[in-house]
Amino acid sequence: MADRDGLIWMDGEMVPWREAKTHVLTHTLHYGMGVFEGVRAYKTSRGAAIFRLQEHTNRLFNSAHIFGMTIPWDRETLNAAQCAVVRENNLASAYIRPLCFYGAEGMGIRADNLRVHCVVAAWEWGSYLGEDNMKHGIRIRVSSYTRHHVNVTMCRAKATGSYANSMLALQEAVRDGYDEALLLDASGYVMEGSGENVFIVRDGVIYTPDLTSALDGITRRTVMTLCAELDIPVVEKRITRDEVYIADEAFFTGTAAEVTPIREIDGRAIGSGTRGPITERLQSLYFDQVHGRRDRHPEWLTLV
Ligand code: PMP
Repeated sequence: MADRDGLIWMDGEMVPWREAKTHVLTHTLHYGMGVFEGVRAYKTSRGAAIFRLQEHTNRLFNSAHIFGMTIPWDRETLNAAQCAVVRENNLASAYIRPLCFYGAEGMGIRADNLRVHCVVAAWEWGSYLGEDNMKHGIRIRVSSYTRHHVNVTMCRAKATGSYANSMLALQEAVRDGYDEALLLDASGYVMEGSGENVFIVRDGVIYTPDLTSALDGITRRTVMTLCAELDIPVVEKRITRDEVYIADEAFFTGTAAEVTPIREIDGRAIGSGTRGPITERLQSLYFDQVHGRRDRHPEWLTLV
């Protein structure tokens, strides 16, 4: 990734891609306290547009607030930086990665007097879980790793350190021949994927875990708004593993994963064992929305 042409916004300046570097004693590299976002820009008839930019930037600032980290830029500047990296790298569509981290000014976990650095990079990134899987669904397993406890990791924050848990779960799942992991919370209830929120459908009703240790996903919120427009009821509640086994349909949501159908869990087919009709409807509406093909919610798209 590091060796390519292009520009990365770094601490207020556009820097050539290969020169966007940091020291090996960068504090966040050692202790994992950094906050970041995953944002997408989509091709629309009016050019590339970032989907729900303000909500992502707000979540970034909330993540920093949770960790007592002061971002040395205002929201407008980071919004503009995200537009600029898409525009100046000539990307028709993009995955955008803003990251705020502590610098190499000192070591130790007291972490005082550290400078907060901010970078924003953007690159082309297609379907996170594969084009074919978007049609037919993915196979997942319940992870042997537990999702964070709410008083161990701050689950409202999208923080770098939280993803060690995600990586353990995903690498285990992939090693065992699955596409993705489903993590249970510390009480054994279904929580989320390694980088996605989860939904199940049963008898025309959609269920999703209430937000305790899952990330407050922006795609989750988008899908819930779309469900309201389609008059599909959504219930947030505790969900057990076997409720997923007997669901009619299941899907993951995330900025990277978009709306990804789940066709199998722990060796059991979910519903018909392929993408279900409600999932398909939501998926297609989601793509219409992000590509600006709907009239509703124009405020969700920011042209770069
Ligand atoms: N949960 C986790 C752990 C994630 O990493 C993500 C991706 N950011 C999500 C859920 C989905 O969030 P969003 O829809 O805002 O991308």
